[in-house]
Amino acid sequence: MAKKILCTGAIVLVAAFFCVAACTLITPQWVYQVSIQGETLGLVEDLDEYITIVEGVQARAEAQWQCDLIMNEQTAAARVRMWSPRFSSPAVTAGIEDTATYKTKGWAIVINGEIAAIVDTEQTARDVLEEVKAHYINEKKNCSLLSVCLREDVSIKSIAVTPEVLKEKEEVFSMLVCGQAENKTYVVKRGDTLSGISRSQNVPLSALREANGLKGDIIQVGQVLNLQSSKALLHVETVEEVTVTETIPYAVKYKVNPDSSVRPDTVAVAGINGLRTVTYKVVRVNGQEIRRQRIKSTVTKEPQTKVVLTGIGYWPARPKGMFRFPVNGGRISSYFGVPRPGGRRHTGIDVPRPRGTPVYAAASGTVTTKSRSSSYGLYIIIQHSNGYSTRYAHLSSFADIRVGSTVVRGQIIGRVGNTGNSTGSHLHWEVRRYGEPVNPLNFFGN
Ligand SMILES: [Zn+2]
Repeated sequence: MAKKILCTGAIVLVAAFFCVAACTLITPQWVYQVSIQGETLGLVEDLDEYITIVEGVQARAEAQWQCDLIMNEQTAAARVRMWSPRFSSPAVTAGIEDTATYKTKGWAIVINGEIAAIVDTEQTARDVLEEVKAHYINEKKNCSLLSVCLREDVSIKSIAVTPEVLKEKEEVFSMLVCGQAENKTYVVKRGDTLSGISRSQNVPLSALREANGLKGDIIQVGQVLNLQSSKALLHVETVEEVTVTETIPYAVKYKVNPDSSVRPDTVAVAGINGLRTVTYKVVRVNGQEIRRQRIKSTVTKEPQTKVVLTGIGYWPARPKGMFRFPVNGGRISSYFGVPRPGGRRHTGIDVPRPRGTPVYAAASGTVTTKSRSSSYGLYIIIQHSNGYSTRYAHLSSFADIRVGSTVVRGQIIGRVGNTGNSTGSHLHWEVRRYGEPVNPLNFFGN
């Protein structure tokens, strides 16, 4: 009897098992079919798993880009009934990862209506603009900043962008200041030529000249050349007050001293430069001064005028060079270099002598000019060796000499007079070296 009951129980159990198994096979199961943009990726068991997968993919992307992201594509989990579903969460994860693209919120720096750069936060954008301004502010002690502004119309606005376009602050700074992310340079080596560098660096010669402000092709070893022109995107205008100490150059006064013993260029009073404190308003654009206006000037030390006694001394001429004195006796009424009206300077020395006094060739040479002009009157030019020539002006007459003929030192070439621009009978005598007037008294001692 007991055996029969046991047997029946076993049958019932087996039947129940088969019944449950059959039910499982026959009854479909609720699962979730995940898709992205309508593309089916696979099945997951429940919504929690779907959410975990999507959030995981996004979190990994955000970790990679280091910013908050919004997925551009739409993912969906549809509840479906299925007999013996095959779950495939790895395939779902991979499918989303492969398809997903993202956008993020970026902050664009807009210059004159055009986006110049995009950074991650509004603060970064503001910071980089402040850094560009600060870059051009003069920190020198004698400068005080009155104003700083950007010449361009600059704004910051929020936009949705792909995370790849976000730039680091340093890169944006360089772009705004140099016009490029990186300032490429080249250091000139021995044997380099500008055209050689142009070829090796693949930069047109004209661009190379422009980027370095070169007029010719002259470069020096060790010189750092810009390989690109830098075109700053932003122009920072600073207005500063600069106070500097300036030298006031002393004036020179020539004073005639009748004392015969006074030598030329005797300094009676030494010249001392003065000083003044000057305040300028200086306008710079990107550090380059474009305007300077003097707003205040205070003399802190008056200059002392140099007084030079030109004297009218007897001429105690003792030759110490190639020339003899062109007249006998006399004294010098006007020295070499003395200022003349119109900003000119005396190109020779004047020796008053009575009309008709003989004028001697100061050294042997060839007569190259025997002529008359409104300023020199009758005058003679003699060419000597070593590039020297001598001129004798305001003559009353010429001796019997010809242009092209040679004269010897001490030969009479003419007579003292008062022709041309002259206010009394005197000899104006010049010494020139390669056409440049030099002081004739350099060739004489006391
Ligand atoms: Zn003269």
